[in-house]
Amino acid sequence: MIRKPVTRRDFVKLSAGSTAALGMLMFDMPDFDKLFVAALNEVPVIWMQGGSDSGCTESIVNVVSPTIYDVLLGPIGDKHVSMQFHQTIMAGQGEIAMEALYNAAAKPGYVLVMEGAIAEKDNGVYATVGEQNGVGISALKHLLDLAPSASAILSLGACCTGGGIPAAPPNVTGVKSVSQILEEHSITTPLINIPGCPPHPDWFVGTLASILIGGLDSVELDSQKRPTAFFHHTVHEHCERRGSFEAENFAKKPGDEGCLYELGCKGPQTHADCPTRLWNNKTSWCVATNSPCIGCAAIEFPFELQSTAEGIPLMTLEDKIAIGVAGGVVLAGGAALAKKAFS
Ligand code: SF4
Ligand code: SF4
Repeated sequence: MIRKPVTRRDFVKLSAGSTAALGMLMFDMPDFDKLFVAALNEVPVIWMQGGSDSGCTESIVNVVSPTIYDVLLGPIGDKHVSMQFHQTIMAGQGEIAMEALYNAAAKPGYVLVMEGAIAEKDNGVYATVGEQNGVGISALKHLLDLAPSASAILSLGACCTGGGIPAAPPNVTGVKSVSQILEEHSITTPLINIPGCPPHPDWFVGTLASILIGGLDSVELDSQKRPTAFFHHTVHEHCERRGSFEAENFAKKPGDEGCLYELGCKGPQTHADCPTRLWNNKTSWCVATNSPCIGCAAIEFPFELQSTAEGIPLMTLEDKIAIGVAGGVVLAGGAALAKKAFS
C-alpha cells in the first residue's frame, strides 16, 4: 500500500478539526434533536473584530439565560445559529480560519456582526485580520467586502456604533462608526446598532433571537438604529435614586448617599435598561454600586452627550471642573489619612 505523505496543510486541517470537536465536548455532547433542528435551518453568522479588546465578545459569551451553549448549539425557534467565523473563539487559526471566512462569505444572506473600532486612515492598516500575500487585510476591507451580501449587520459595542474611545481626539487612526462607513460607501444593508462598553449580553442575544424567530422586521429600532426593546427609556427614568434626584438630595463625593447627578451621572441622557435589567446575572448595576452612569450605552460615548431629558440641564464645563476639584480634594484628603494611618 502506498501511503500519501501528510503535508503541513493536512496536519493543520486535522488539528483544527480535532480542536473543534474538543470545543464541542467542552459544552458536553449536544442533544441529537437539537442537532437535527440545526441541520434544517442554519443561519450563518460571521463575526468580525476590528480594533478591539474583545470586551464585547467577553460580555456576550457570559450570557446566563439562555447560556452561550444554547445560543450557539441549541435551536432558537426553528432556527439555529451557525457561527462561521469568530477570530477569538473559533478553533481554527491562520489559513484555515480565513478559508472558513471566505467559504461563508461566498453564500450571501449571512448575519454580519461587527465588533471593535474600524480605522479608516491609511486604508485601515491599523486593524487587520488575516493576510494576503504577506500583507494584512484591514477590518475596513473586510467590512466593505462582507457588508453588501449580509442580510443584516449587527454593529456591536461603543467602538463600532459611535467610534468609542479609539475615536477620541485626535483620532490618529481615523476611526469611524460602521454606520458612517456604510453611508460613505452607499451600502444599504439593514443595520442594527447595539451600543455599550461593553454591551449587555441580553441586548445582543435578545436582538439576534428576535431576528431568528420573527425576522428582521420584528426588531423595532429608534432613530439611532437601536432596538427599542432595550434602549427606549433613559437610565434616569427607572433609576433607584430617582427619588433623591427629585428631592434634590445629591451626593457630593463618591460614596455619599443620594443621586449621583452632581458627580457626573449621565443617566438622564443615556437610553438603556440597566436599572431594570441589571448586570452580572441580575446582581447589580452601576448606580447601585455608587458609580455614576458614564453613558457607555449612548452612541456619543465617551464624548459629550447632547440629548437631555426634559427639564434637566446638561452639566456645564464649570460644574465638571468644580466636581473634579472637589474629587481631587477628597482623594488628596484620603491619601493623607492613609499615609498617616500607615506611618
Ligand atoms: S442622575 Fe443618575 S443617579 Fe441620579 S437619579 Fe438619574 S440616573 Fe439615578
Ligand atoms: S448604567 Fe450607564 S454606564 Fe452603567 S452599563 Fe448602563 S449605560 Fe453603561
